[in-house]
Amino acid sequence: MASDLLTNWNNYPIEKSEVSSPVFAEDFYTQLAESSSFIVRGNGRCYGDASLSPHVISALKFNRVLNFDEARGILTCQSGLLLSDILDLIMPRGWFLPVTPGTRFITVGGAVASDVHGKNHHKDGSFSQHIVSMKVLSPNGEIVVCSALENSEYFWFTCGGMGLTGIILEVTFTLKKIETGYIKQVQIKSEGLDEVLDLFEQYSHYTYSVAWIDCLKKGPHFGRSILMLGEHATIPELNGRQHVYPKKSKTLSVPFHFPSFVLNGLSVKAFNSVFYAKNYKREMHSIASCESFFYPLDAILHWNRIYGRKGFVQYQFVVPKDRGKEGIREILTRISNKGWGSFLAVLKLFGTQQGPISFNMEGYTLALDIPINAKLFAFLDELDIMVKEYGGRIYLTKDARMKAEIFHSTYPNASRFTSFLSEIDPEKKIVSSLSRRLSIK
Ligand SMILES: Cc1cc2nc3c(=O)[nH]c(=O)nc-3n(C[C@H](O)[C@H](O)[C@H](O)COP(=O)(O)OP(=O)(O)OC[C@H]3O[C@@H](n4cnc5c(N)ncnc54)[C@H](O)[C@@H]3O)c2cc1C
Repeated sequence: MASDLLTNWNNYPIEKSEVSSPVFAEDFYTQLAESSSFIVRGNGRCYGDASLSPHVISALKFNRVLNFDEARGILTCQSGLLLSDILDLIMPRGWFLPVTPGTRFITVGGAVASDVHGKNHHKDGSFSQHIVSMKVLSPNGEIVVCSALENSEYFWFTCGGMGLTGIILEVTFTLKKIETGYIKQVQIKSEGLDEVLDLFEQYSHYTYSVAWIDCLKKGPHFGRSILMLGEHATIPELNGRQHVYPKKSKTLSVPFHFPSFVLNGLSVKAFNSVFYAKNYKREMHSIASCESFFYPLDAILHWNRIYGRKGFVQYQFVVPKDRGKEGIREILTRISNKGWGSFLAVLKLFGTQQGPISFNMEGYTLALDIPINAKLFAFLDELDIMVKEYGGRIYLTKDARMKAEIFHSTYPNASRFTSFLSEIDPEKKIVSSLSRRLSIK
C-alpha cells in the first residue's frame, strides 16, 4: 500500500492517504475485510473531499469492459473504466454516452456515485436513469445486484450516494445511437441574464443546452452570455465531410501551478471579454466535433493549475424553477460584486429529479470556479443560506466546505439516507472526509 498526499481536481483539501489499487473483484473483498474504514476513489475529478480518507481504495485498475451488445447499445463494465475509454470503443460503432459531464476523464463508478448530469438533463435526466443494473459490494461483504426495479432502495441511494453505500463493482447501462461523431451546434449571444434564461425555455426542445456567463460583467449587460445548443449531426448534415468520426485533436498542458498574481480580476475580465467578442454574431450555426462540444476543457490538460497551489472551489448550486430567475440573479449579483476572478460561469437547465439523494431538481444550476482566499469560505457560507432560502442546494461532488446543517436542511431525503447508511454500515466501514464533514456517517 502506497502512502500519498492526495487531492482532487480543485487541489483543496490535500490529505495524507494510504492508497491501495485492486485489480480483481476478490481484492476488493480482502480490502473490505481487512480495512477498518476507507472510501473508494475513481479518477479524482470531483472538486472536494468526496474521495478522500486516510485509506483510499482506487478503482482505476478495475477497468475492463465485460460485455458490449453492439446491436442494442448496452454496455457492461467494471467501475474503474474511464468514460474516455468507453467513447473510444463505442463512437466508431455508432453509439454515444447517454449522459456525459463536462470531462470524459471520470470513471463509471464516479458517474454513478455522483449521479452526474450533462447538457441534456432537461431531456434525458442524469446518469442513473440509463442504468440497467449494477453490482455493489456492500459494507458487510454481500454483493447487491440492484436496479430501479430490484433492490431499488439500495440502487437509488447508491446513485448520488457519493460512494457511501458500498463499492460499485460493475455497471450495465444503455447507450445513445448516433450516426456521426459531430454535433450540429447553434450559438446564441444574449445581452443579459433575463434574456438567456428566457432563451433556455424557448429552446428547451434542443437535446443539449448550456450557457457560458460572463459573471464579472456589471450594469445593463449583467449576465451577458453565450447559449450553446446542440443535436447529434446525421450523415447528410455533414455536407460530404470525409470522416464521419473526427480524429482526436491534440491536447495542450499547463506545466505547473501558476503564481497567484497571474489570475486576477483584470486577467479574467479580459479573457471573458475576448470569449464574448469571439462570438461576434447574434446567432451562429456550425458543425463541431463531439470532443469540442462536450469537453472543451479537456483540450488543456491540468488546466486546474492556473488557479495556483492554494487551489480553488467550484461553487455549484441549483435553484427550483419557480423562483429560479430571481435566485440566480440575486446570487450572481453577490458573486459579481465581489469581483473574485472566475472565468465564465456555466448555467444549465435541469429536468425533474429521480434519485432521492441526487443533486438535480427541476430548475437552473450555476457553476463557477473561485480561487481560494482567506475570506472565501465565510462568503460562500452566506451564499449557502441564500441558496437554502430559495429552496435550492449545493452539489456534493463539487463541495469542499459546506456546513453539515446546510446539507441536512437542503437535501429533503438526507435523514432517510443517513438512516439507510446506519442500517447497512453500522460499523462505519465506508467513510470519506466529506461524509465526516457533513455528519452523514
Ligand atoms: C472539468 C470537469 C467538468 C465536470 N463537469 C461535470 C458536469 O458537467 N456534470 C457533473 O455532474 N459533474 C461534472 N464534473 C464532476 C465529475 O463528473 C464528478 O465529480 C465525478 O464523480 C468524478 O468521477 P471520478 O471517477 O473522478 O471519481 P472521484 O472524483 O474519485 O470520486 C467521486 C465520488 O465517486 C465515488 N466513487 C468513485 N468510484 C467509485 C466506486 N467504484 N464505488 C463507489 N464509489 C465510487 C467516490 O467515493 C466519490 O464519492 C466535472 C468535473 C470536472 C473536473
